[in-house]
Amino acid sequence: MGEPVINFEGNKMKRLIIKSIVVVGMLFSSITMAANFPTQEPMGGEPFGHSVKNIGDGLYVFRWWVYRNLFVVTDEGVIVTDPLNPKAANLLLGEIRKITDKPVKYVVYSHNHHDHISGGNVFKDQGATFIAHKNVLNELADHPSPVIPLPDITFEDTYTVQLGGRTLELKYFGPNHGESLVVMRLPKEKILFVVDIVTPRRVAFRTMPDFWPDEWVRSLKEIEQLDYDYVVSAHGPANQPAIDPSSVVAEQRIYLEDLMSAVKAEFDKGTHSPDKLREIVKLPKYKDWRSYDEWLPMNIERIWAYYHMGW
Ligand SMILES: [Zn+2]
Repeated sequence: MGEPVINFEGNKMKRLIIKSIVVVGMLFSSITMAANFPTQEPMGGEPFGHSVKNIGDGLYVFRWWVYRNLFVVTDEGVIVTDPLNPKAANLLLGEIRKITDKPVKYVVYSHNHHDHISGGNVFKDQGATFIAHKNVLNELADHPSPVIPLPDITFEDTYTVQLGGRTLELKYFGPNHGESLVVMRLPKEKILFVVDIVTPRRVAFRTMPDFWPDEWVRSLKEIEQLDYDYVVSAHGPANQPAIDPSSVVAEQRIYLEDLMSAVKAEFDKGTHSPDKLREIVKLPKYKDWRSYDEWLPMNIERIWAYYHMGW
């Protein structure tokens, strides 16, 4: 794949617009609170379960509440992805210590969003090297947090982490969910770790915050071309599989295409009111997907904004 063409100015503008839409009622408070993001786990200390599943030789999926990451245990140390939050990161370290006494050598951030990458201090204190897409640096300069160590290594298009004979490839597909999301692939094991842009058997998250519908679809088409047999996704409650077949990537893309064409069809018939669209657009093919009843109307509102405002 060539160097993705990115219009930073355009995307900055898009981002400003979507933020003002998504957090419309909170605009003023978000400005005044910008330097004071929460530093503990989301949901104010409610007790959430965690678990670890071994999905292959030295490969583990760690779950905390509905968040998941992947970690790789090698003879020379451990590669950790998204530390999630301080509480989860401490639980994760405890789980790693049950498996190996080797140090955590690398922490890889999937993207800039605080709900996935807070809490890495516990690994930083032990000397881990942090890796992320270069745009994470801009994002963390704008939205710093004392519980998010800055990346030590950043890259533009691809980066390969190698440790103890294991390889983890990181690949950037341009903007899709924010502007810094990387997809991780274990080439030998043919496993993909995808955060936020693929969540099997669930409609898109609420009003799709920081998601760009057309660029999301484009990215998924490009991701479908990679060589992999399995997908680990970053969201799923305890009753969902830790690992899924590769087909879930296309299923996610087809859901978005169906959602966009259903909203567009109503636009073309003359329905432009987001309230009306939320009422009349249905996607019965997906009625068994998680959060269909609650979130489909919110997904529709985001796609209304896409067609109404042109981004
Ligand atoms: Zn995110």
